[in-house]
Amino acid sequence: MEATTETIESRTEDIKNLIEKQRTFFASNVTKSVEFRKKQLIKLKELIEQYEEEIVDALYQDLRKHEFEAFATEIGIIMVELDKTISKINKWSTPRKVSTPLFHFKANSYIKPEPYGNTLIISPWNYPFQLLFAPLIGAMAAGNTAILKPSEYAPATSKIAAKIINDHFDPAYLALVEGGIPESQALLAEKFDYIFFTGGTSVGKIIYQAAAKHLTPVTLELGGKSPCIIDKDTHLNYTAKRIVWGKFVNAGQTCIAPDYILVDRNVKDQVIDKLKEYITKFYGEDAQASDSYPRIINHRHFDRLNGYIQAEQDHVIFGGKTDRDDKFIGPTLLEGIGLDVPVMKEEIFGPILPIIVYDNIEEAIDLIKSRSKPLALYMFSKNNAKIKKVLSETSAGGVTINDTLMHIANPALPFGGVGDSGIGGYHGQHSFDLFSHHKSVLHRSFLIEEPIRYAPYKLGRKWLKKIMDWAL
Ligand code: NAD
Repeated sequence: MEATTETIESRTEDIKNLIEKQRTFFASNVTKSVEFRKKQLIKLKELIEQYEEEIVDALYQDLRKHEFEAFATEIGIIMVELDKTISKINKWSTPRKVSTPLFHFKANSYIKPEPYGNTLIISPWNYPFQLLFAPLIGAMAAGNTAILKPSEYAPATSKIAAKIINDHFDPAYLALVEGGIPESQALLAEKFDYIFFTGGTSVGKIIYQAAAKHLTPVTLELGGKSPCIIDKDTHLNYTAKRIVWGKFVNAGQTCIAPDYILVDRNVKDQVIDKLKEYITKFYGEDAQASDSYPRIINHRHFDRLNGYIQAEQDHVIFGGKTDRDDKFIGPTLLEGIGLDVPVMKEEIFGPILPIIVYDNIEEAIDLIKSRSKPLALYMFSKNNAKIKKVLSETSAGGVTINDTLMHIANPALPFGGVGDSGIGGYHGQHSFDLFSHHKSVLHRSFLIEEPIRYAPYKLGRKWLKKIMDWAL
């Protein structure tokens, strides 16, 4: 439906009313109860179980994801996150006692996590279920209300997510607003207590500016070009297998997919042979006929990716097959391209893998450092000294050594970017902490009253220094 001025105005009014309802609900203190939060998380888990089939269907419609991939990378991750959060929520929400210097005697000190209040979660289309619900779990666990705005580019998933939220939760507590940029902007015009955004770096800047107007704290989960270093001293088979998996899962539409390879010249040919071997093993001679290989989200992204391939035709050493009607782009390897061509300057976000050769590790490090800080960095090597060097000399949101993507699958590790790839990290307890304000509390007793701090002052600086050295 085309959005007229009238429909936009009435939607803006709906959004204003919704936020007002959520403000009133948060102020009622209902979400402060840990029992309430736990009950709501259990309810969410049961709803996801109830709608599992429809979620799998939606992910197939939006991205042609195989049910295995849909569960492994979307629904399963959310179920694990829910189980963990439900079992740990009491512990996480208990105030954390900290030491109190003698100076304050008699007192005790603790950090009390408290919900921010009304939160907004804006998500992208590439893992449309996981990236919408993972932050929601953190927001709910910490005792916030939430408004969710999924991506308009994954309409089937957006629809089932709306059903799960809007048909089963009180909108004063949780609500989902479907739509695109106008809805997002109408939401961003209002004041929230926390904004959690996942998407591209350029939109991230727009979100940050909108949040700044209300001084709203943000998490920005953004993208970028994640490099993958292959040292000559590596296990070639596992290296190639794990890269092919991490790059071509979801047809390369993964924020932390290896964007390009940096390979030691000594093993380049063997690596290329192995990459070709595993692509064929995973997806057959013709990936278009494989039921394990997804499609590109829409024609705009198809055209963008196809443009990279057409521009580098002479450098395609594997794949290169495309079919616009089917939104299919086959796994493609590029070799011998320049560093200043578009495919090496922009985030690829699709199944195209450029291979760049280096002669020594310093060259690879210099290239990474000359660019924006990536969301992820991968290194395949058995040489611990080189691994240590890369870890200490480069910066990235997260790192997996000798595999791809896997750091995201450990909830003990905060997942997020740095610099242009984002602000903040979440998953597991990190999500709870991220959606909580950590309130400092010093609780004094009336037992003792020290006379020296009050005017008129009786001591000089010398004595004050001694007391502070001793008692603080
Ligand atoms: P996007 O930034 O275009 O859109 C994300 C969300 O923002 C959508 O809900 C969209 O409706 C909304 N939006 C778009 N333009 C807007 C505007 N001008 N004002 C307000 N809201 C707006 O991102 P995308 O294309 O959906 O996703 C791809 C990007 O997301 C890639 O760069 C990828 O690396 C990144 N990403 C990052 C992570 C992460 O965890 N760090 C995960 C997935 C994707």
